[in-house]
Amino acid sequence: MLTYDEVGATAAAELPSGYRHLHEWRQIGFGQEWFIEASQRLLSWNAHRRAGVRVDTASPVSLDQAVVLRLRFGPLRFTAPVRVVDYIDTPTERGFAYGTLPGHPEIGEERFAVQIDEDDIVWAEIRAFSRPGRWFTRLGDPLARSVQDAVTRKYLRALEDGRPLPCPCCGERTLPERSACEWCPVCDWEDDPNQLRDPHSPEHWLSPDLGPA
Ligand SMILES: [Zn+2]
Repeated sequence: MLTYDEVGATAAAELPSGYRHLHEWRQIGFGQEWFIEASQRLLSWNAHRRAGVRVDTASPVSLDQAVVLRLRFGPLRFTAPVRVVDYIDTPTERGFAYGTLPGHPEIGEERFAVQIDEDDIVWAEIRAFSRPGRWFTRLGDPLARSVQDAVTRKYLRALEDGRPLPCPCCGERTLPERSACEWCPVCDWEDDPNQLRDPHSPEHWLSPDLGPA
């Protein structure tokens, strides 16, 4: 029995009112290979495990699955029973959402997704709405937020490739982030989002050996 009514609402553009909202996303890698690796990590619960959360199942994520998550934050330990309420499996997005069950310190829902965009950049996105349950209220809202923010950062980090992303022009892995208007140190190409769709366009040639093969 879920402890809130707005089941599935992390999929909506607007998160429900009356809750604290969380929406974090970041580039985690590049290309189909990393999209598959990161989504497998997520859908096997291994992103959670890498973030230091204990998960009491050996099975991969499935719809309606109930699991108990256990996490530590400094001296505090939390037991967090959840149920999977949504499962996302499309060619460009994979992930799931879970909602809180009785005994969870909070009330609400959290959605984890890995996406690949038209430029082959792989993203992780976390959306959640929550409010403290009775027990967590006693702990204090600022601390509850710190716990949630810290674990969210760990989830995102657990999905990162870690290697720099390939320069769209020379292919060397030189860019910490894509479309951030940085210069590739190998080929001098400027990673400008407007150039991304056609890195070999003559307008943007910066050295003679970068033309089409
Ligand atoms: Zn380059």
